Amino acid sequence: MLDKGQGARRLESYVQGAWRAGAGEGKPLADAATGETHALISSDGLDFAGALDWGRETGGAALRRLTIHERALMLRAIGQKLMEMKDEFHAESLVTGATPKDAWPDIEGGIGTMLTFASKARRELPNTKVLTEGAVEGLSRDGSFLGQHILTPLRGVAIHINAFNFPVWGMLEKIAPALIAGMPCLVKPASQTAYLTELVVRRMLAMDILPDGALQLVCGGVGDLLDHVDGQDVVTFTGSAATGQKLRSHPAIVANSVRFTMEADSLNASILGPDAGPGTPEFDLFVKEVQREMTSKAGQKCTAIRRVLVPVQHEAAVIEALSALLAKTAVGLPGDANARMGALASQGDRDSVREKIAAIAREAEIVCGDPDRASVISGDAAKGAFLNPVLLRCADPMAASAPHEIEAFGPVATVMAYDGIDQAVALARKGKGSLVSSVFTNDPDVAAEAVLGVASFHGRVMIGNRDSAKSSTGHGSPLAPLVHGGPGRAGGGEEMGGMRGVKHFMQRTAVQGAPRLLSAVTGQWVQGAPVREDLHPFRKSLAELRIGDRIVTGRRVVTEDDVEHFARFTGDTFYAHMDSAAAKANPFFEDRVAHGYLIASFAAGLFVEPSPGPVLANYGVDNLRFLTPVYFGDSLQVQLTCKEINPRENAVYGEVRWDCRVSNQNDEVVAQYDVLTMVAKEWPVRES
Ligand code: NDP
Repeated sequence: MLDKGQGARRLESYVQGAWRAGAGEGKPLADAATGETHALISSDGLDFAGALDWGRETGGAALRRLTIHERALMLRAIGQKLMEMKDEFHAESLVTGATPKDAWPDIEGGIGTMLTFASKARRELPNTKVLTEGAVEGLSRDGSFLGQHILTPLRGVAIHINAFNFPVWGMLEKIAPALIAGMPCLVKPASQTAYLTELVVRRMLAMDILPDGALQLVCGGVGDLLDHVDGQDVVTFTGSAATGQKLRSHPAIVANSVRFTMEADSLNASILGPDAGPGTPEFDLFVKEVQREMTSKAGQKCTAIRRVLVPVQHEAAVIEALSALLAKTAVGLPGDANARMGALASQGDRDSVREKIAAIAREAEIVCGDPDRASVISGDAAKGAFLNPVLLRCADPMAASAPHEIEAFGPVATVMAYDGIDQAVALARKGKGSLVSSVFTNDPDVAAEAVLGVASFHGRVMIGNRDSAKSSTGHGSPLAPLVHGGPGRAGGGEEMGGMRGVKHFMQRTAVQGAPRLLSAVTGQWVQGAPVREDLHPFRKSLAELRIGDRIVTGRRVVTEDDVEHFARFTGDTFYAHMDSAAAKANPFFEDRVAHGYLIASFAAGLFVEPSPGPVLANYGVDNLRFLTPVYFGDSLQVQLTCKEINPRENAVYGEVRWDCRVSNQNDEVVAQYDVLTMVAKEWPVRES
C-alpha cells in the first residue's frame, strides 16, 4: 500500500508562464526501491488550451525572432549549467530505482545530447531564420524562373509525451532539436518519474535563458490537451504501443494531420555471427553486451536486447556463459555501491514484467533466474520493485510468436538458435520493426548479409567486433548524430539523426519565382539576381558586404609552359596534361588539357585582393566541378559573387560563401564552385 505521502513533494506544472499545482491531493508516486511515497502528482484543472495558445503566441513568436545560432547558444548555456547541477539530478534519480551508473545515460547523456545539438547546429546550419535545402532548380531556359526548397519553423507547439524510463534524456533529446528549429515545447513526462523531469525543468527555467513560453511542463495527465492541437503542432510520443496507437488516432490529430512521431515497443535482436564461436573475441563481446543490455537500467530501455539470436552450434555455449554472468548480477538499493542493478520503476512495472515473462514462457523455458522471487543484497525485496535477470530459451523460434511480440520491459531476454544467416535475418524480422539490432561478427560477408537483411526493419544496426571493442558506443546507445526510431512495431518514428532531427519541426516548402524575388526570400544570392560591382568585395567587412557583391576579373591565358611548370612543380604528370597522343585517345579530350587545380589556382590569382583586409581566411571550397576542358591558349576569367553571409555569434567574424564561376573566351563555364571564407565583421578587427 502506498502511504498518503506526508511530506512528499507536490509536483507542479509550468504552464502559461507560471508554476501551477493541479487540483486535489494528487496521485502518490513511490520510491522504486523503498515503496515510500516520494511525490504527489496532479494536473487536474489546468487550462490546456490556454497552454497551447501561450506556447504558440508567446513562445513561438519569441523563438522565431532569434536566428538558429542564437537558439543553439541558449541551449549550450543551459546545457553547461545543467551539467554543473548533475549531482542534484543524480540524487533525485535514485528514487527511480536506477543506480548512478544506470542514470548516466539519462542525465549526462541527455545533457550531452542537448550540447551536441547546440554545437552541430552552429557548425552545420547557417545563422539564419530560414533554411534552404538542396540545389536551386532551373525551371526555365532563360533562367528567369527558379525553384528552391526552404524550411521554416512550424507555428505550433511541439508536445513531447515521454516514457518513464528516461525522464531527463527523453525530454532533452526532443526539446533540443525543436527549440533550435524555432518551435516552443510542452513536455509531458510519464507520471511515475516526473519528479526528476520537474526538477530539471525548474532548474532550466530559473536560469532565465529561454524566452517566455518556449518551454512548458505538464506533470500529470494531459486532460483535453490533444483536443486542441492543430496542423502546426507536432506530437512526439514514447511509450507503449497501445497508448501510442490510441493517441495517433485521436480525432484532432487525424482531422488536422498533426505530425505524430511514435516510438513504442521494440523487440530488439542481437545476432551472433556463425564465425563467432566460443574462444573468439566476438563471442565474448556478444555475451557481455547481452548481459549489459539486459541489466543496465534493469532492462527498462527501449533499445535493450530482447532477442538473442545465436548459431545453433553455439547455443549451449552462449546460454552457459550468459547465465554465469547474469547469476552474478548483484541487485539492491540503487545507492548501494555494490549493487550492479537497482529496482524497476515501480511495483506495477514489476508485476507487468512478471506477467509478460509468464506469457513468453508459454513458448519458451526459463534457463536462468526466478521471476517470482527477488534476491537482493540490500533493500527490502517485498517493498522495492526488484527483479533478478531472467533468461529464456525458445526451442522453435521460427514457429513461436510470444518472444518476438511481447516486450517484457525489464531484465529479460530470450535466446533463440538459428541455422544459417538467412534464418537469423528471418528471426530478426519477426520483431516486425525494431529500434536497433546488432551483429557480432568478424566476417565481412556475414556483416554485409546480416545488416542488409535486417536494415529495412530497423532504425539503427550496430556491428560489433574486435576492432571496435574499445571504442564502440554499444548496442543500446542512441546517439545525437544518428537516427533513433524504427519502423513497424517500433512506432515508425524518427528522432535525432543530427540536423535532420531539427528539420522534423520545420515545414519544407518549394518556393518558385524569379531570381531577384527568390533571393529576397532565402537571403542567398542566386544566378540572375541583382549584383553590385563597386569596391572589390574582399575590401568589405561584414558591415558593408551584401549578397550580390561581385568582382569580374581580368583574363589570363593558359599556356603550355604553365601546364608543364605546374606538372613539374606539383608532381602531377597525369598523361592528359603531358602526352598529346594519349590525351587525344581519351574520349573526353581533343588534346592536352590544363590541370583542374591549375585552373582553380589561376582563378584565385585572378580574384584575390592581396593586401591585408577583412577577408581573414579561406577555409575550403564546396561542390567543385570542372565542366569544360581548358586547352593551351584558352583565356580564363572569373566571376566571384557573394552568395551567403553568416555572421558568427560571439565572434569577430562570419562565414561568407562566394559563387565562383571560371569561364573561357567563349563564355563557357570551365569550372564552378563555392569558395568559403571567413570575413571580419569590422575592419580593422576590433576584439571585443
Ligand atoms: P505508457 O504508454 O503508459 O505511457 C507513456 C506516456 O504516455 C506517459 O507519459 C503517459 O503518461 C502518457 N499517456 C498514457 N496514456 C495517455 C493518454 N491517454 N493520453 C495522453 N498521454 C498518455 O507507457 P509507460 O511509460 O507506462 O510504459 C509502459 C510500457 O511501454 C513499458 O512497460 C514498455 O513495454 C513500453 N515502453 C516502450 C518504450 C520504447 O521506446 N520501446 C519506452 C517506454 C515504454 P502517464 O505516465 O501520466 O500515464
